[in-house]
Amino acid sequence: MMSVAYDFAHSPASEFMARPQHLLIDGRRVPASSGRTFKSLNPATGQVIATVAEGNEADVDHAVAAARRAFEGPWRTMRASERGQILLRWAELLKANAEEIIELESIDAGKPISATLRQDFPAAVDTLIYYAGWADKISGDVVPVRDDALTYTVREPVGVVAAIVPWNFPLMIGMWKLAPALACGCTIVMKPAELTSLSALRIAELALQAGLPAGVFNVVTGPGRVVGDALVNHPDVDKVTFTGSPGVGRGIMKGAAGNFKRVSLELGGKSANVIFDDADLEAASKAAASGIFFNAGQVCSAGSRVLVQEKAYDEVVERLAARAKSLKIGDPLDRKTALGPVISEKQMKSILDYVDIGQKEGASLVTGGTRVGERGYFISPAVFANVEHEMRISQEEIFGPVVSIIKFRDEADALRIANGTAYSLAAGVWSRDIGKLQRFAKRARAGTVWMNTYGYTDVRLPWGGERDSGLGREHGTAALDNFTEPKAVWMNLAV
Ligand code: NAD
Repeated sequence: MMSVAYDFAHSPASEFMARPQHLLIDGRRVPASSGRTFKSLNPATGQVIATVAEGNEADVDHAVAAARRAFEGPWRTMRASERGQILLRWAELLKANAEEIIELESIDAGKPISATLRQDFPAAVDTLIYYAGWADKISGDVVPVRDDALTYTVREPVGVVAAIVPWNFPLMIGMWKLAPALACGCTIVMKPAELTSLSALRIAELALQAGLPAGVFNVVTGPGRVVGDALVNHPDVDKVTFTGSPGVGRGIMKGAAGNFKRVSLELGGKSANVIFDDADLEAASKAAASGIFFNAGQVCSAGSRVLVQEKAYDEVVERLAARAKSLKIGDPLDRKTALGPVISEKQMKSILDYVDIGQKEGASLVTGGTRVGERGYFISPAVFANVEHEMRISQEEIFGPVVSIIKFRDEADALRIANGTAYSLAAGVWSRDIGKLQRFAKRARAGTVWMNTYGYTDVRLPWGGERDSGLGREHGTAALDNFTEPKAVWMNLAV
Protein backbone atom coordinates (compact mmCIF):
# COMPACT_ATOMS: atom_id res chain seq x y z
CA MET A 1 0.00 0.00 0.00
CA MET A 2 1.12 3.54 -0.73
CA SER A 3 2.01 5.97 2.00
CA VAL A 4 2.06 9.72 1.73
CA ALA A 5 3.50 12.46 3.89
CA TYR A 6 0.90 14.90 5.17
CA ASP A 7 0.78 18.38 6.49
CA PHE A 8 -2.74 19.42 7.37
CA ALA A 9 -1.78 22.71 8.94
CA HIS A 10 -2.98 24.55 5.85
CA SER A 11 -6.33 22.65 5.70
CA PRO A 12 -6.17 21.61 2.05
CA ALA A 13 -9.91 20.82 1.85
CA SER A 14 -11.17 24.18 3.08
CA GLU A 15 -11.22 25.83 -0.34
CA PHE A 16 -13.29 23.02 -1.86
CA MET A 17 -15.76 22.94 1.05
CA ALA A 18 -16.34 26.70 0.78
CA ARG A 19 -17.62 26.36 -2.80
CA PRO A 20 -21.29 25.73 -3.52
CA GLN A 21 -21.42 21.99 -4.24
CA HIS A 22 -23.19 21.55 -7.55
CA LEU A 23 -24.21 18.38 -9.34
CA LEU A 24 -21.78 17.06 -11.90
CA ILE A 25 -23.63 16.18 -15.09
CA ASP A 26 -22.23 15.76 -18.59
CA GLY A 27 -18.87 17.15 -17.55
CA ARG A 28 -20.28 20.33 -16.05
CA ARG A 29 -20.96 21.53 -12.52
CA VAL A 30 -24.60 22.56 -12.46
CA PRO A 31 -26.98 23.61 -9.68
CA ALA A 32 -29.99 21.39 -9.00
CA SER A 33 -32.75 22.12 -11.50
CA SER A 34 -35.04 23.09 -8.60
CA GLY A 35 -32.36 25.45 -7.24
CA ARG A 36 -32.64 23.67 -3.89
CA THR A 37 -29.71 22.86 -1.64
CA PHE A 38 -29.08 21.03 1.62
CA LYS A 39 -26.41 21.34 4.29
CA SER A 40 -23.62 18.87 4.95
CA LEU A 41 -22.53 18.71 8.60
CA ASN A 42 -19.28 17.83 10.31
CA PRO A 43 -20.23 14.95 12.65
CA ALA A 44 -17.45 15.94 15.05
CA THR A 45 -18.98 19.36 15.66
CA GLY A 46 -22.49 19.36 14.21
CA GLN A 47 -21.50 22.44 12.21
CA VAL A 48 -22.29 23.09 8.55
CA ILE A 49 -19.29 22.41 6.33
CA ALA A 50 -20.82 22.68 2.87
CA THR A 51 -23.95 23.51 0.92
CA VAL A 52 -24.86 20.79 -1.54
CA ALA A 53 -27.24 20.75 -4.52
CA GLU A 54 -30.42 18.78 -3.84
CA GLY A 55 -31.05 16.84 -7.03
CA ASN A 56 -34.43 15.52 -8.10
CA GLU A 57 -36.02 13.34 -10.81
CA ALA A 58 -35.34 15.91 -13.56
CA ASP A 59 -31.65 15.99 -12.66
CA VAL A 60 -31.54 12.21 -12.71
CA ASP A 61 -33.11 12.29 -16.20
CA HIS A 62 -30.40 14.68 -17.41
CA ALA A 63 -27.64 12.62 -15.85
CA VAL A 64 -28.92 9.32 -17.24
CA ALA A 65 -29.27 10.87 -20.72
CA ALA A 66 -25.69 12.16 -20.51
CA ALA A 67 -24.46 8.76 -19.35
CA ARG A 68 -26.30 7.06 -22.24
CA ARG A 69 -24.76 9.43 -24.80
CA ALA A 70 -21.30 8.91 -23.35
CA PHE A 71 -21.82 5.15 -23.32
CA GLU A 72 -22.85 4.98 -26.97
CA GLY A 73 -20.30 7.61 -27.91
CA PRO A 74 -16.75 7.83 -26.70
CA TRP A 75 -16.56 5.38 -23.83
CA ARG A 76 -17.60 1.97 -25.11
CA THR A 77 -16.05 2.58 -28.53
CA MET A 78 -12.72 3.79 -27.19
CA ARG A 79 -9.80 1.36 -27.31
CA ALA A 80 -9.81 -0.56 -24.06
CA SER A 81 -6.15 0.25 -23.42
CA GLU A 82 -6.93 3.95 -23.72
CA ARG A 83 -9.72 3.58 -21.14
CA GLY A 84 -7.19 1.97 -18.84
CA GLN A 85 -4.72 4.81 -19.41
CA ILE A 86 -7.33 7.41 -18.47
CA LEU A 87 -8.11 5.53 -15.27
CA LEU A 88 -4.39 5.39 -14.43
CA ARG A 89 -4.07 9.14 -15.04
CA TRP A 90 -7.01 9.60 -12.69
CA ALA A 91 -5.24 7.52 -10.03
CA GLU A 92 -2.17 9.76 -10.40
CA LEU A 93 -4.32 12.85 -9.93
CA LEU A 94 -5.92 11.37 -6.83
CA LYS A 95 -2.45 10.79 -5.40
CA ALA A 96 -1.37 14.31 -6.32
CA ASN A 97 -4.41 15.63 -4.40
CA ALA A 98 -4.22 13.11 -1.58
CA GLU A 99 -4.05 15.58 1.29
CA GLU A 100 -7.15 17.42 0.17
CA ILE A 101 -9.20 14.26 -0.44
CA ILE A 102 -8.15 12.64 2.82
CA GLU A 103 -8.97 15.70 4.85
CA LEU A 104 -12.28 16.16 3.04
CA GLU A 105 -13.30 12.56 3.73
CA SER A 106 -12.21 12.72 7.37
CA ILE A 107 -14.18 15.88 8.03
CA ASP A 108 -17.28 14.93 6.05
CA ALA A 109 -17.58 11.38 7.43
CA GLY A 110 -16.01 12.01 10.88
CA LYS A 111 -13.29 9.46 10.22
CA PRO A 112 -10.06 9.46 12.22
CA ILE A 113 -7.46 10.78 9.83
CA SER A 114 -5.12 7.93 10.79
CA ALA A 115 -7.65 5.52 9.25
CA THR A 116 -8.33 7.60 6.15
CA LEU A 117 -4.58 7.82 5.60
CA ARG A 118 -3.95 4.15 6.21
CA GLN A 119 -7.02 2.56 4.74
CA ASP A 120 -9.72 4.53 2.92
CA PHE A 121 -7.56 6.53 0.58
CA PRO A 122 -4.87 3.94 -0.27
CA ALA A 123 -7.56 1.29 -0.79
CA ALA A 124 -9.51 3.57 -3.14
CA VAL A 125 -6.40 4.26 -5.23
CA ASP A 126 -5.40 0.59 -5.19
CA THR A 127 -8.88 -0.34 -6.46
CA LEU A 128 -8.64 2.14 -9.30
CA ILE A 129 -5.20 0.97 -10.37
CA TYR A 130 -6.22 -2.69 -10.13
CA TYR A 131 -9.23 -2.24 -12.44
CA ALA A 132 -7.37 0.12 -14.79
CA GLY A 133 -5.15 -2.87 -15.40
CA TRP A 134 -8.17 -5.01 -16.24
CA ALA A 135 -9.58 -2.60 -18.86
CA ASP A 136 -7.78 -4.23 -21.81
CA LYS A 137 -7.84 -7.78 -20.46
CA ILE A 138 -11.58 -8.45 -20.49
CA SER A 139 -11.99 -11.10 -23.13
CA GLY A 140 -14.29 -13.86 -24.30
CA ASP A 141 -13.55 -17.42 -25.39
CA VAL A 142 -13.60 -19.39 -28.57
CA VAL A 143 -15.88 -22.33 -27.74
CA PRO A 144 -15.79 -25.03 -30.44
CA VAL A 145 -19.30 -26.38 -31.02
CA ARG A 146 -19.37 -27.81 -34.55
CA ASP A 147 -17.07 -28.12 -37.51
CA ASP A 148 -18.95 -25.80 -39.85
CA ALA A 149 -19.17 -22.86 -37.46
CA LEU A 150 -16.92 -20.52 -35.57
CA THR A 151 -18.48 -20.01 -32.16
CA TYR A 152 -17.14 -17.59 -29.61
CA THR A 153 -18.13 -15.29 -26.76
CA VAL A 154 -17.49 -11.63 -26.13
CA ARG A 155 -18.19 -9.65 -22.98
CA GLU A 156 -19.91 -6.35 -23.48
CA PRO A 157 -20.45 -3.55 -20.96
CA VAL A 158 -23.94 -3.64 -19.39
CA GLY A 159 -24.49 0.06 -20.16
CA VAL A 160 -25.57 2.85 -17.83
CA VAL A 161 -24.93 2.04 -14.17
CA ALA A 162 -26.53 3.67 -11.13
CA ALA A 163 -24.14 3.51 -8.17
CA ILE A 164 -25.75 4.21 -4.79
CA VAL A 165 -23.22 4.60 -2.00
CA PRO A 166 -23.44 4.72 1.84
CA TRP A 167 -21.82 7.16 4.24
CA ASN A 168 -19.50 4.87 6.17
CA PHE A 169 -16.77 4.57 3.48
CA PRO A 170 -17.92 7.03 0.81
CA LEU A 171 -14.66 7.22 -1.10
CA MET A 172 -13.55 3.61 -0.84
CA ILE A 173 -16.92 1.96 -1.47
CA GLY A 174 -17.63 4.51 -4.20
CA MET A 175 -14.43 3.42 -5.93
CA TRP A 176 -15.34 -0.26 -5.51
CA LYS A 177 -18.20 0.53 -7.90
CA LEU A 178 -16.66 3.16 -10.15
CA ALA A 179 -13.40 1.47 -11.05
CA PRO A 180 -14.71 -1.88 -12.34
CA ALA A 181 -17.73 -0.31 -14.06
CA LEU A 182 -15.58 2.20 -15.93
CA ALA A 183 -12.91 -0.39 -16.78
CA CYS A 184 -15.62 -2.55 -18.34
CA GLY A 185 -16.79 0.35 -20.53
CA CYS A 186 -19.93 1.28 -18.57
CA THR A 187 -20.93 4.85 -17.75
CA ILE A 188 -22.17 5.91 -14.33
CA VAL A 189 -24.56 8.08 -12.43
CA MET A 190 -23.46 8.05 -8.81
CA LYS A 191 -25.59 9.03 -5.86
CA PRO A 192 -23.52 9.50 -2.72
CA ALA A 193 -25.22 9.28 0.68
CA GLU A 194 -26.65 12.70 1.49
CA LEU A 195 -24.56 12.81 4.70
CA THR A 196 -21.30 12.46 2.77
CA SER A 197 -21.48 13.88 -0.74
CA LEU A 198 -18.18 15.70 -0.89
CA SER A 199 -15.47 13.21 -1.85
CA ALA A 200 -17.51 11.91 -4.81
CA LEU A 201 -17.86 15.45 -6.19
CA ARG A 202 -14.17 16.16 -5.80
CA ILE A 203 -12.93 12.93 -7.39
CA ALA A 204 -15.40 13.38 -10.26
CA GLU A 205 -13.76 16.72 -11.05
CA LEU A 206 -10.37 15.07 -11.02
CA ALA A 207 -11.68 12.35 -13.34
CA LEU A 208 -12.57 15.03 -15.89
CA GLN A 209 -9.13 16.52 -15.50
CA ALA A 210 -7.67 13.06 -16.17
CA GLY A 211 -9.47 12.93 -19.49
CA LEU A 212 -12.61 10.97 -18.66
CA PRO A 213 -15.04 12.13 -21.36
CA ALA A 214 -18.04 14.24 -20.30
CA GLY A 215 -21.02 12.12 -19.21
CA VAL A 216 -19.01 9.01 -18.33
CA PHE A 217 -19.12 9.71 -14.57
CA ASN A 218 -21.97 11.89 -13.31
CA VAL A 219 -22.79 12.70 -9.69
CA VAL A 220 -26.32 13.56 -8.55
CA THR A 221 -26.43 14.45 -4.87
CA GLY A 222 -29.64 14.47 -2.86
CA PRO A 223 -32.01 12.34 -0.82
CA GLY A 224 -32.16 8.59 -1.31
CA ARG A 225 -35.93 8.55 -1.55
CA VAL A 226 -35.83 11.04 -4.44
CA VAL A 227 -32.57 10.68 -6.34
CA GLY A 228 -31.91 7.03 -5.44
CA ASP A 229 -35.47 6.04 -6.16
CA ALA A 230 -35.49 7.86 -9.52
CA LEU A 231 -32.33 6.03 -10.55
CA VAL A 232 -33.63 2.65 -9.46
CA ASN A 233 -36.86 3.14 -11.39
CA HIS A 234 -35.34 4.79 -14.44
CA PRO A 235 -36.08 2.85 -17.65
CA ASP A 236 -32.74 3.77 -19.21
CA VAL A 237 -30.55 2.56 -16.34
CA ASP A 238 -29.24 -0.95 -17.00
CA LYS A 239 -27.73 -1.84 -13.66
CA VAL A 240 -27.85 -0.76 -10.03
CA THR A 241 -24.93 -1.36 -7.73
CA PHE A 242 -25.86 -0.55 -4.16
CA THR A 243 -24.28 -0.62 -0.73
CA GLY A 244 -26.48 0.18 2.23
CA SER A 245 -29.16 -1.23 4.46
CA PRO A 246 -31.19 -4.38 3.78
CA GLY A 247 -34.44 -2.36 3.87
CA VAL A 248 -33.40 -0.08 1.03
CA GLY A 249 -31.84 -3.07 -0.77
CA ARG A 250 -35.22 -4.83 -0.82
CA GLY A 251 -36.86 -1.75 -2.33
CA ILE A 252 -34.13 -1.61 -4.97
CA MET A 253 -34.76 -5.19 -6.08
CA LYS A 254 -38.45 -4.41 -6.49
CA GLY A 255 -37.82 -1.15 -8.34
CA ALA A 256 -35.25 -2.77 -10.61
CA ALA A 257 -37.83 -5.33 -11.76
CA GLY A 258 -39.48 -2.68 -13.98
CA ASN A 259 -36.94 -3.12 -16.78
CA PHE A 260 -35.09 -6.10 -15.26
CA LYS A 261 -32.04 -4.09 -14.29
CA ARG A 262 -29.03 -6.04 -13.14
CA VAL A 263 -28.65 -5.60 -9.40
CA SER A 264 -25.80 -6.16 -6.99
CA LEU A 265 -26.33 -5.45 -3.32
CA GLU A 266 -23.87 -5.16 -0.45
CA LEU A 267 -25.97 -4.91 2.68
CA GLY A 268 -25.57 -5.28 6.41
CA GLY A 269 -23.97 -7.74 8.78
CA LYS A 270 -23.88 -9.07 12.33
CA SER A 271 -20.60 -10.87 11.99
CA ALA A 272 -19.37 -13.35 14.58
CA ASN A 273 -15.78 -13.32 15.75
CA VAL A 274 -15.35 -16.73 17.40
CA ILE A 275 -12.63 -17.26 20.01
CA PHE A 276 -11.90 -20.81 21.16
CA ASP A 277 -10.27 -21.56 24.53
CA ASP A 278 -7.01 -22.58 22.87
CA ALA A 279 -6.59 -19.30 20.92
CA ASP A 280 -3.96 -16.65 21.51
CA LEU A 281 -6.29 -14.60 23.69
CA GLU A 282 -4.15 -11.48 23.65
CA ALA A 283 -4.08 -11.35 19.83
CA ALA A 284 -7.73 -12.36 19.54
CA SER A 285 -8.92 -9.70 21.99
CA LYS A 286 -6.84 -7.02 20.29
CA ALA A 287 -8.27 -7.90 16.88
CA ALA A 288 -11.76 -8.25 18.29
CA ALA A 289 -11.54 -4.70 19.65
CA SER A 290 -10.43 -3.20 16.36
CA GLY A 291 -12.91 -5.48 14.56
CA ILE A 292 -15.80 -3.70 16.27
CA PHE A 293 -14.46 -0.25 17.17
CA PHE A 294 -12.81 0.63 13.84
CA ASN A 295 -14.78 3.46 12.16
CA ALA A 296 -16.85 3.66 15.36
CA GLY A 297 -18.40 0.31 14.51
CA GLN A 298 -19.97 1.68 11.33
CA VAL A 299 -18.63 -1.14 9.23
CA CYS A 300 -20.79 -3.71 7.47
CA SER A 301 -18.38 -6.49 8.46
CA ALA A 302 -17.83 -5.25 12.03
CA GLY A 303 -17.28 -8.13 14.43
CA SER A 304 -20.26 -6.99 16.47
CA ARG A 305 -20.71 -10.41 18.08
CA VAL A 306 -17.71 -11.85 19.85
CA LEU A 307 -18.33 -15.52 20.66
CA VAL A 308 -16.03 -16.86 23.37
CA GLN A 309 -15.66 -20.42 24.63
CA GLU A 310 -16.51 -20.93 28.30
CA LYS A 311 -13.03 -21.11 29.84
CA ALA A 312 -11.72 -18.04 28.02
CA TYR A 313 -14.87 -15.98 28.47
CA ASP A 314 -14.01 -13.87 31.52
CA GLU A 315 -10.52 -13.12 30.32
CA VAL A 316 -11.72 -11.93 26.88
CA VAL A 317 -14.43 -9.75 28.45
CA GLU A 318 -11.80 -8.16 30.67
CA ARG A 319 -9.33 -7.64 27.83
CA LEU A 320 -11.94 -6.19 25.47
CA ALA A 321 -13.23 -3.82 28.14
CA ALA A 322 -9.68 -2.66 28.88
CA ARG A 323 -9.07 -2.00 25.18
CA ALA A 324 -12.38 -0.15 24.85
CA LYS A 325 -11.46 2.10 27.76
CA SER A 326 -8.03 2.83 26.31
CA LEU A 327 -9.21 4.10 22.92
CA LYS A 328 -8.63 7.79 22.37
CA ILE A 329 -11.91 9.45 21.43
CA GLY A 330 -11.75 12.85 19.81
CA ASP A 331 -11.20 15.13 16.86
CA PRO A 332 -10.91 13.03 13.69
CA LEU A 333 -8.19 15.36 12.40
CA ASP A 334 -5.95 14.54 15.36
CA ARG A 335 -3.69 11.70 14.26
CA LYS A 336 -3.80 10.13 17.73
CA THR A 337 -7.60 9.76 17.65
CA ALA A 338 -8.73 6.15 17.42
CA LEU A 339 -12.47 6.69 17.70
CA GLY A 340 -14.25 9.54 15.96
CA PRO A 341 -17.91 10.47 16.12
CA VAL A 342 -20.71 8.43 14.60
CA ILE A 343 -22.13 9.91 11.45
CA SER A 344 -25.21 11.84 12.67
CA GLU A 345 -27.44 12.69 15.57
CA LYS A 346 -29.99 10.18 14.29
CA GLN A 347 -27.40 7.40 14.20
CA MET A 348 -26.17 8.37 17.67
CA LYS A 349 -29.70 8.14 19.07
CA SER A 350 -30.28 4.80 17.40
CA ILE A 351 -27.05 3.39 18.90
CA LEU A 352 -27.84 4.73 22.38
CA ASP A 353 -31.31 3.17 22.08
CA TYR A 354 -29.67 -0.19 21.48
CA VAL A 355 -27.55 0.30 24.60
CA ASP A 356 -30.80 0.74 26.54
CA ILE A 357 -32.38 -2.25 24.83
CA GLY A 358 -29.38 -4.45 25.73
CA GLN A 359 -29.62 -3.48 29.40
CA LYS A 360 -33.38 -4.03 29.46
CA GLU A 361 -32.86 -7.45 27.88
CA GLY A 362 -30.61 -8.36 30.80
CA ALA A 363 -27.13 -8.15 29.26
CA SER A 364 -24.39 -6.61 31.43
CA LEU A 365 -22.95 -3.34 30.19
CA VAL A 366 -19.31 -3.64 31.26
CA THR A 367 -18.16 -0.28 29.93
CA GLY A 368 -19.10 2.62 27.65
CA GLY A 369 -22.30 3.21 25.77
CA THR A 370 -22.78 6.85 26.71
CA ARG A 371 -22.57 10.07 24.79
CA VAL A 372 -19.22 11.83 25.13
CA GLY A 373 -19.39 15.63 25.26
CA GLU A 374 -22.24 17.77 24.01
CA ARG A 375 -20.79 18.79 20.70
CA GLY A 376 -20.72 16.34 17.81
CA TYR A 377 -21.90 12.74 17.96
CA PHE A 378 -19.39 10.82 20.05
CA ILE A 379 -20.18 7.60 21.90
CA SER A 380 -17.85 5.75 24.27
CA PRO A 381 -17.16 2.20 23.02
CA ALA A 382 -19.58 -0.19 24.66
CA VAL A 383 -18.91 -3.76 25.78
CA PHE A 384 -21.85 -5.99 26.66
CA ALA A 385 -21.20 -9.29 28.47
CA ASN A 386 -23.65 -12.09 29.31
CA VAL A 387 -25.40 -11.59 26.00
CA GLU A 388 -27.81 -14.33 24.92
CA HIS A 389 -28.01 -15.32 21.28
CA GLU A 390 -31.71 -14.48 21.05
CA MET A 391 -31.37 -10.91 22.36
CA ARG A 392 -31.91 -8.04 19.94
CA ILE A 393 -28.37 -6.74 20.54
CA SER A 394 -27.16 -10.12 19.29
CA GLN A 395 -29.47 -10.32 16.28
CA GLU A 396 -29.82 -6.77 14.93
CA GLU A 397 -27.20 -4.63 13.27
CA ILE A 398 -26.43 -1.68 15.56
CA PHE A 399 -23.85 -0.05 13.27
CA GLY A 400 -22.03 1.62 16.12
CA PRO A 401 -19.25 0.96 18.67
CA VAL A 402 -21.15 -1.70 20.60
CA VAL A 403 -19.95 -5.29 21.01
CA SER A 404 -22.01 -8.21 22.31
CA ILE A 405 -19.95 -10.97 23.94
CA ILE A 406 -21.66 -14.35 23.91
CA LYS A 407 -20.52 -17.57 25.62
CA PHE A 408 -20.43 -20.89 23.75
CA ARG A 409 -19.72 -24.50 24.75
CA ASP A 410 -18.18 -26.32 21.79
CA GLU A 411 -17.71 -26.22 18.02
CA ALA A 412 -21.30 -27.11 17.25
CA ASP A 413 -22.59 -24.44 19.60
CA ALA A 414 -20.23 -21.85 18.09
CA LEU A 415 -21.48 -22.62 14.58
CA ARG A 416 -25.12 -22.59 15.62
CA ILE A 417 -24.72 -19.12 17.13
CA ALA A 418 -22.41 -17.75 14.41
CA ASN A 419 -24.82 -18.80 11.65
CA GLY A 420 -27.92 -17.88 13.62
CA THR A 421 -28.74 -14.41 12.32
CA ALA A 422 -30.31 -13.11 9.12
CA TYR A 423 -26.87 -12.02 7.89
CA SER A 424 -23.93 -13.81 6.29
CA LEU A 425 -21.26 -11.28 5.36
CA ALA A 426 -18.18 -12.25 7.35
CA ALA A 427 -16.90 -14.30 10.28
CA GLY A 428 -13.67 -14.65 12.25
CA VAL A 429 -12.33 -17.68 14.10
CA TRP A 430 -9.43 -18.00 16.55
CA SER A 431 -7.76 -21.23 17.60
CA ARG A 432 -4.39 -23.00 17.56
CA ASP A 433 -6.04 -26.12 16.13
CA ILE A 434 -5.98 -26.03 12.35
CA GLY A 435 -8.68 -28.67 12.06
CA LYS A 436 -11.03 -26.61 14.20
CA LEU A 437 -10.31 -23.52 12.10
CA GLN A 438 -10.97 -25.36 8.85
CA ARG A 439 -14.14 -27.03 10.07
CA PHE A 440 -15.49 -23.66 11.12
CA ALA A 441 -14.50 -21.97 7.84
CA LYS A 442 -16.21 -24.71 5.86
CA ARG A 443 -19.51 -24.48 7.71
CA ALA A 444 -19.69 -20.73 8.40
CA ARG A 445 -22.35 -18.91 6.40
CA ALA A 446 -20.20 -16.00 5.40
CA GLY A 447 -18.77 -14.46 2.24
CA THR A 448 -15.41 -13.97 4.00
CA VAL A 449 -13.84 -15.99 6.83
CA TRP A 450 -10.81 -14.73 8.73
CA MET A 451 -8.70 -17.25 10.69
CA ASN A 452 -6.58 -15.87 13.52
CA THR A 453 -7.08 -12.37 12.15
CA TYR A 454 -10.04 -10.08 11.54
CA GLY A 455 -11.22 -7.39 9.16
CA TYR A 456 -8.88 -7.49 6.18
CA THR A 457 -10.30 -6.77 2.73
CA ASP A 458 -8.51 -6.53 -0.58
CA VAL A 459 -9.87 -5.67 -3.98
CA ARG A 460 -8.36 -8.88 -5.40
CA LEU A 461 -10.65 -11.07 -3.29
CA PRO A 462 -14.42 -11.36 -3.68
CA TRP A 463 -16.47 -9.38 -1.18
CA GLY A 464 -20.14 -9.71 -0.29
CA GLY A 465 -22.70 -11.93 1.35
CA GLU A 466 -26.05 -13.60 1.05
CA ARG A 467 -29.50 -13.24 2.61
CA ASP A 468 -29.74 -9.90 4.45
CA SER A 469 -26.08 -9.26 3.62
CA GLY A 470 -26.87 -8.92 -0.05
CA LEU A 471 -26.62 -10.36 -3.49
CA GLY A 472 -23.56 -10.93 -5.67
CA ARG A 473 -19.94 -10.09 -5.01
CA GLU A 474 -17.78 -7.04 -5.55
CA HIS A 475 -14.00 -7.01 -6.12
CA GLY A 476 -11.73 -9.24 -8.16
CA THR A 477 -13.03 -10.78 -11.34
CA ALA A 478 -16.52 -11.04 -9.81
CA ALA A 479 -16.92 -7.31 -10.34
CA LEU A 480 -16.04 -7.68 -14.02
CA ASP A 481 -18.95 -10.10 -14.33
CA ASN A 482 -21.18 -7.55 -12.60
CA PHE A 483 -20.55 -4.95 -15.29
CA THR A 484 -20.42 -7.06 -18.45
CA GLU A 485 -22.89 -9.24 -20.32
CA PRO A 486 -21.66 -12.30 -22.17
CA LYS A 487 -22.69 -12.56 -25.82
CA ALA A 488 -22.51 -15.77 -27.87
CA VAL A 489 -21.62 -15.38 -31.55
CA TRP A 490 -22.14 -18.01 -34.27
CA MET A 491 -20.48 -17.67 -37.65
CA ASN A 492 -21.52 -20.11 -40.31
CA LEU A 493 -18.40 -21.39 -42.10
CA ALA A 494 -20.35 -23.41 -44.66
CA VAL A 495 -21.40 -20.55 -46.96
P1 NAD B 1 -29.06 3.35 3.56
O1 NAD B 1 -29.56 2.10 2.98
O2 NAD B 1 -29.99 4.19 4.33
O3 NAD B 1 -28.45 4.30 2.44
C1 NAD B 1 -27.52 3.86 1.47
C2 NAD B 1 -27.70 4.70 0.24
O4 NAD B 1 -28.99 4.45 -0.29
C3 NAD B 1 -27.62 6.21 0.49
O5 NAD B 1 -26.99 6.83 -0.61
C4 NAD B 1 -29.07 6.60 0.54
O6 NAD B 1 -29.30 7.94 0.18
C5 NAD B 1 -29.66 5.67 -0.50
N1 NAD B 1 -31.10 5.45 -0.38
C6 NAD B 1 -31.88 5.63 0.72
N2 NAD B 1 -33.17 5.36 0.41
C7 NAD B 1 -33.21 5.00 -0.89
C8 NAD B 1 -34.23 4.59 -1.79
N3 NAD B 1 -35.50 4.50 -1.39
N4 NAD B 1 -33.90 4.27 -3.05
C9 NAD B 1 -32.62 4.32 -3.45
N5 NAD B 1 -31.61 4.73 -2.68
C10 NAD B 1 -31.89 5.05 -1.40
O7 NAD B 1 -27.81 2.89 4.39
P2 NAD B 1 -26.77 3.84 5.11
O8 NAD B 1 -27.43 4.34 6.33
O9 NAD B 1 -26.21 4.83 4.17
O10 NAD B 1 -25.58 2.80 5.43
C11 NAD B 1 -25.66 1.95 6.49
C12 NAD B 1 -26.05 0.56 6.05
O11 NAD B 1 -25.27 0.13 4.94
C13 NAD B 1 -25.81 -0.47 7.12
O12 NAD B 1 -26.91 -1.31 7.25
C14 NAD B 1 -24.60 -1.26 6.63
O13 NAD B 1 -24.49 -2.55 7.08
C15 NAD B 1 -24.73 -1.16 5.18
N6 NAD B 1 -23.41 -1.28 4.55
C16 NAD B 1 -23.03 -2.45 3.94
C17 NAD B 1 -21.79 -2.60 3.36
C18 NAD B 1 -21.37 -3.88 2.67
O14 NAD B 1 -20.34 -3.92 2.03
N7 NAD B 1 -22.11 -4.96 2.75
C19 NAD B 1 -20.90 -1.54 3.39
C20 NAD B 1 -21.29 -0.36 4.01
C21 NAD B 1 -22.55 -0.24 4.58
